[in-house]
Amino acid sequence: MIDRHELFPTVPKGQPASRELWMDQFARLLHQPPLDEAAVREALLRRGLSGRDIDDLLTAARRKYEVMTSQPTSWEHITRIGYRNPDGQEIVRKTDVGGPQGQRIYVLRCTVCGHEYAAYGFDADIRRCPHCQDGPAGLPVPAET
Ligand SMILES: [Zn+2]
Repeated sequence: MIDRHELFPTVPKGQPASRELWMDQFARLLHQPPLDEAAVREALLRRGLSGRDIDDLLTAARRKYEVMTSQPTSWEHITRIGYRNPDGQEIVRKTDVGGPQGQRIYVLRCTVCGHEYAAYGFDADIRRCPHCQDGPAGLPVPAET
């Protein structure tokens, strides 16, 4: 049996659990027998998330888990300058700016419309353009040093 508390990380009072935190948690849970996808879905539905939200979260969690557990070479691969993901988002610059959990901010350029925006390295391979592909809003682009 899964303890409900394991599913949802505790957060400081008055602060909603961040998407990021949930994804970390899901990524771990998804690969922990005997919890299966159906159980995660059911728990999320009970939390009032829509089917579409759940799909997004599960997909993102899986991708994140793959990145977290992949060999360093794959990680290097998706965060090198010039890397282009399947949606045509290309890494143009690595910045010195960090984010939560030691993530680093990269500058990406959409090869479809030329829009530039910043994102965490973890997301580089799944990013869609915020301008022309209905992707999530980018982070502010850090100044070049
Ligand atoms: Zn674009």
